[in-house]
Amino acid sequence: GSALPLLALTGLEVGYGQVAAVRGIDLTVHEGEIVALIGGNGAGKTTTLSAIAGLLKPRAGSIALRGEAIAGEPPERLVGRGMSLVQEGRQVVPQLTVQENLCIGAYLRRGDTDVDLERIYGIFPRLKERHGQPAGSLSGGEQQMLAIGRALMARPSLLLLDEPSMGLAPLVIERIFEVIRQINEEDVTIVLVEQQAVQALRIAHRAYVLENGSIRLSGPAAEIRENPAVIDAYLGGR
Ligand code: ATP
Repeated sequence: GSALPLLALTGLEVGYGQVAAVRGIDLTVHEGEIVALIGGNGAGKTTTLSAIAGLLKPRAGSIALRGEAIAGEPPERLVGRGMSLVQEGRQVVPQLTVQENLCIGAYLRRGDTDVDLERIYGIFPRLKERHGQPAGSLSGGEQQMLAIGRALMARPSLLLLDEPSMGLAPLVIERIFEVIRQINEEDVTIVLVEQQAVQALRIAHRAYVLENGSIRLSGPAAEIRENPAVIDAYLGGR
């Protein structure tokens, strides 16, 4: 690949009223990577992801996608540029069927969705079995898979995942992380926001540790995993 990063944040600042949630962060993501964003409650992870996806307008700094400035562009334009976000709390439409929820993810694209549905059902056989069921009747893990599947329907090259493990049982979390790795192996670059730092660092190539709106440290996931300060603060003093 080229040296140009897929995504580059420079001096990004994002706030809510008087609250400065993200205070000048620099972050790059290269094509093919899984980059984890870890850190405690209120560190600014969700805010960062929301700014990248166009849901929040930065106060300062730049966001570049393949070298092009995108800060301030609306989310649907960014979806058209190959960026999809899976928000925290798996926002599926409960009354619609599994398949209808998936098709929502393709609404900005023209043409056939059958190929995409088959691809998603290949990744998530459970969704195929339940394609005619209301999404609200699925388990938490299945709903998370549906939310990820819906994002994939837009054929993203960059997938932003906000706490995919939230509220799920350990075995289900294992499965979700396996699937994230598989999606990445199918040429989707991933930014993964997680409180489950141990698992996130296991599948990520690189990681950034956020604290109080700033980057405390960054580097290869294998190094971050061995960092004593990270172990104390986020890995349960393992
Ligand atoms: P968590 O894992 O708890 O979601 P986070 O790292 O994702 O944490 P953010 O949700 O980005 O953190 O929050 C960063 C800071 O911004 C926090 O101080 C939070 O209280 C504040 N904040 C987040 N959303 C809002 C909002 N809508 N209005 C005001 N302040 C907010």
